[in-house]
Amino acid sequence: PFHTLTLQRIPLRRRETLQAWDAADEYLLNHFFTEFAQRKPDDEQNILICNDNFGALCLNLHEYEPVLYTDSHTAGLALAHNAQLNNLSVSSVTVIPSTVKPEADKGKWDVVLMKLPKNQSWFREQLIQIKPFLHEGSKVIVAAMVKHLPHSALEQLEQIIGPASLSRAKKKARLLLADTEIQRKTPESKYPRHWRVDNARKPHNGIKLINHANTFSRDSLDIGARFFIEHLPAGIEGNIIDMGCGNGIIGIATAMQNPGHINFVDESYMAVASAQASWQANGMDEAKASFTVNDALQGFAADSADCVLCNPPFHQQNTVGDQIAQRMFQDAKQVLKPGGEFRVIGNRHLGYHALMKKLFGNCTLVASNSKFVVLSSIR
Ligand code: SAM
Repeated sequence: PFHTLTLQRIPLRRRETLQAWDAADEYLLNHFFTEFAQRKPDDEQNILICNDNFGALCLNLHEYEPVLYTDSHTAGLALAHNAQLNNLSVSSVTVIPSTVKPEADKGKWDVVLMKLPKNQSWFREQLIQIKPFLHEGSKVIVAAMVKHLPHSALEQLEQIIGPASLSRAKKKARLLLADTEIQRKTPESKYPRHWRVDNARKPHNGIKLINHANTFSRDSLDIGARFFIEHLPAGIEGNIIDMGCGNGIIGIATAMQNPGHINFVDESYMAVASAQASWQANGMDEAKASFTVNDALQGFAADSADCVLCNPPFHQQNTVGDQIAQRMFQDAKQVLKPGGEFRVIGNRHLGYHALMKKLFGNCTLVASNSKFVVLSSIR
């Protein structure tokens, strides 16, 4: 069934050179169809799929009415998009966001099919969260490309779920196969992690940040963010958007020198939950902020923001590139009011200056150090 589906990556790009699935997805599906095919869909197996990026796993197994457990809102959008593209009903797939317990509707999960996430803390956390909803002998199968598979993954799986083994490599992909042992004591989660910004200037020193397991830079302040907070705009009264907010550091620092309203936006459920928890932990005014899980600024009203701030992502799972940044920049332009400011931090070598200049017709350097530049464009 695998090869009959058409799958696209989100965001859609004119000349896309990347596939919406990889050999690890194929291996996982082939394994499922050989090992579990004799059990028919109407056997009512409870199937949990984790971290399916663009719907390759969920849509190939749609007859089994699987549930998707993911931290990515964009993954849900990609699933809906690809379902429509293939005339499949998305209602056959339910999504459980990472901030909700991955509980099965009826009984426990019989089979968990997981794409190994890039972030090993989130992998561990996912296993910890799933474990209570497994029964003795539930199968947990994790797929990864060999080059993205750390040695620790098998250990983690064995420690949390039960006896596990590694399959042989096929097209540079491998499977980790575990049988659930309920007796095995589930380790405690280390998340959410709380820490304070240190070695920073007033008033940023001491800002408290709450980080969930898949939040960007969850264990310490990102060095780009550290530089960015020293070069934020001041005195803005209207709507300010922290686009790709992570743990909320940019928006919180901004709120300390601007009377305006801050909208924290991220496509990661955990990021938005982290930003909201961080805002509360610093005793900030609840009425002055909103928190939105969203793909960039899709669906936001045009001409509605006075300022958009962004420390853009430079990869999409394991794929490096500025495809997401480009989309975010375009969205920022749409959503800004005429005269509104788009301010960005980036690595010097990333070439955001040219991108912004092309899009806005202007781009000025606000600050720079040996690694980073802070750039500003006016709509
Ligand atoms: N602002 C935080 C900071 O400075 O520490 C996080 C910056 S991190 C470099 C980029 C953020 O963009 C991540 O939190 C990531 O989840 C988010 N992101 C990635 N793709 C996105 C998308 N399509 N829409 C919204 N946010 C996205």
